[in-house]
Formats: sequence, structure tokens, C-alpha cells
Amino acid sequence: MNIFEVMLQGMLMQERYNAYIEAEEREHQSAEKLGLKECVRCGLCCLRRPCIPLPSEMKSIADFLGLEVEELAKKYTTVDKTRGADYFLRWIKAGQEDIAGEFMPWERTYDEGYCVFYSEEEKICRIYPVRPADARMQNCWEELDQEAVSATFNAWNEGKVRRFLPNFED
Ligand code: SF4
Ligand code: SF4
Repeated sequence: MNIFEVMLQGMLMQERYNAYIEAEEREHQSAEKLGLKECVRCGLCCLRRPCIPLPSEMKSIADFLGLEVEELAKKYTTVDKTRGADYFLRWIKAGQEDIAGEFMPWERTYDEGYCVFYSEEEKICRIYPVRPADARMQNCWEELDQEAVSATFNAWNEGKVRRFLPNFED
């Protein structure tokens, strides 16, 4: 595939993904939609974007799950890269187990589904007591604090990612 074909494929995937998100937004009864100021655990934000844990949060989450931090990273995270910036770890979505512990191929950005820790059946975050600060920012009834979101991305860099996944390859 040449560069133009790759770009076209990317645009089509983005378009399809946007349509998927819009359909899910119509489907979910979020607090924002219901005019509430309290989370009703509809899972929409866990579907739009799985949380990004801070490097400093990895240990408590691993402890909660009875894992070593390296195991947590290998089993539940994928390495991603911000536009023009650095590498960071994000939770995989359910169905992305095949790329856990590895760099996320760009086309997998458009995978559909919830964060691996969201239980659709019980409508809960399975790591709720130790959920990342990023999760606590996702209050759909108020405007997202973009500075805080940027700070989450900026808390990571390649060296920090390699602390957990020393051998990942871009
Ligand atoms: S914060 Fe997220 S899970 Fe809670 S109601 Fe809003 S969209 Fe749903
Ligand atoms: S960690 Fe919990 S709150 Fe965050 S996206 Fe996953 S399920 Fe949702």
C-alpha cells in the first residue's frame, strides 16, 4: 500500500469510527443526557477512551489486582504515542488482548469496545477503588479540564514506559 492508500484507509476508518461513537452516544443514557450531575455508570466514557493511568498509579492498581506492575502492563496496557509527542501507556479495550504489552498499530486505534476494565453486565469499573485520576476527570456533565488531560499524557515518556515494558518496539 502506498502512502496515499494508507491515508485514504485512515480517513475511512476514522469516519467509520466517528459514526460508531455517535451511534453509541445516542444509545447510552449518560448523566449529561439525563440532566444529572452524578455518574450513572453508563460506560460511555469508558468506550470513548479507556483511561490513561499515571506511572505513579501503576503500583496501586497492580496491587489491587494481585499482579506485579510488569504483569499489569503486559496484560492490560498498550503503548501509544501522542501526536508529535512521546509514548504513553493506555488500557487496552476488551478485544485488544492480542496487542497487550505491545505498541499499538495505528489502525487498532479504531477498534470498537469498552475499556478492558469496564463490566458491561454489572456496569462497573473493575478497578474502581484504585481507578486512575484520569477516570475521576471523566464527568460527562461538566467540561473536561484539558490541562489536566495534557498533564496525564505529559506524565509519560519513553523511559517511563520502558520501566514497565522494557522491550516494546514501535
Ligand atoms: S461519567 Fe461516563 S460513565 Fe458516568 S454517566 Fe457520564 S458518560 Fe456515563
Ligand atoms: S479504568 Fe475504569 S473508569 Fe477508566 S475507562 Fe476503564 S473501566 Fe472506565
